[in-house]
Amino acid sequence: MIEYEGQYPVYEISASKIKSNARKIYEMCKTNGIEPAGVVKGFSAIPEVAELFIQAGFKTLGDSRMKEIIRLRAADIKGELMLIRIPMPCEIPELVKYADSSLNSEIETIRLINKEAELQQKLHGIILMVDLGDLREGFFCREEAVEVAKVVEGLSNVKLLGIGTNLGCYGSIKPSEKNLGELCELAEVIEKEIGRSLEIISGGATSSLSLLIDGRMPERVNHLRIGEAIITAKDFPYIWGLEMPGIYRDPMVLKAQVVEVKEKPSYPIGEIFIDAFGNRPVYTDRGMRKRAILAVGNKDVGDISKLKPRHDGIEIIGSSSDHLILDVEDYTGEVRVGDVLEFDTFYAAMVFLCSSDCVRKVVVE
Ligand SMILES: *Cc1c(COP(=O)(O)O)cnc(C)c1O
Repeated sequence: MIEYEGQYPVYEISASKIKSNARKIYEMCKTNGIEPAGVVKGFSAIPEVAELFIQAGFKTLGDSRMKEIIRLRAADIKGELMLIRIPMPCEIPELVKYADSSLNSEIETIRLINKEAELQQKLHGIILMVDLGDLREGFFCREEAVEVAKVVEGLSNVKLLGIGTNLGCYGSIKPSEKNLGELCELAEVIEKEIGRSLEIISGGATSSLSLLIDGRMPERVNHLRIGEAIITAKDFPYIWGLEMPGIYRDPMVLKAQVVEVKEKPSYPIGEIFIDAFGNRPVYTDRGMRKRAILAVGNKDVGDISKLKPRHDGIEIIGSSSDHLILDVEDYTGEVRVGDVLEFDTFYAAMVFLCSSDCVRKVVVE
């Protein structure tokens, strides 16, 4: 097992792998006429890691939380900062002070931003979000989007940078030539109305890279907001079945310590009722098996199906808030109390691990 100094659980982030992924994705976008924003919310915008995106060439970083944007500013990050969630009316003063631009879909909010930007003598960039069927944020009615664009164009302290969309979030809708083509058509209608071209047509997130890879990205899309493909890099191989040559899939690893190792029956004894979270799981009787308990749980990782053991023969069989239960019967090595086991993490687990106070985050070479 791995020897490691210090306290567990620890979430290790490899700086060289993140930087290498960031550089590859940035170059791939640039080659295709796209200026990507690097989305850092997945790892709670740890400034040391966000800085690697800037070193890799990214000019703008995106995050969905003002608290994280403020943290990046405090760390003196040399890049533009974009709030990629529709701003709350209560956070407008901070938004204008710390962020350069934001995604928007409500004219009342944009008016508040404009008023605040006047007070602070700033110019805040606005990207209008258009809902192309995924049914999360954005104008569903195209006429409304055009009308609002005209209004925004007339305001003094906001600048209409362009339009954007989000797919594959609520409605699970795949980015396509058709839906992104509609975004470009709408951009052209707006351009005609305001009499100038738009700087940004933002065609979505990591999932939209699939169109780039296939060479089917509508030509006018010139902006994407990319996080996953750089930081966990698992959607392409595991969900899209696409190989991304040269992209590291393991820039992050969870290391947790074994606190119990015992031989136990695999089927619970007594009347089966509900588990710690009120669910009724189904158990399979596989006889007596060797198991280990790790001191990490749902509180740290959210959903344990988003963890993947790095050791062959080790299987996650269950968890509660603070315990992760493993079947180690088929593991060829020996597992003892105090050993440290390693797990790859999918995006959802990374989000929890990075926001848990109980997990130490370490950036390694
Ligand atoms: C999270 C988010 C992104 C980035 O998504 P990835 O899948 O990590 O690339 C882009 N845009 C918006 C609006 C988001 O909320």
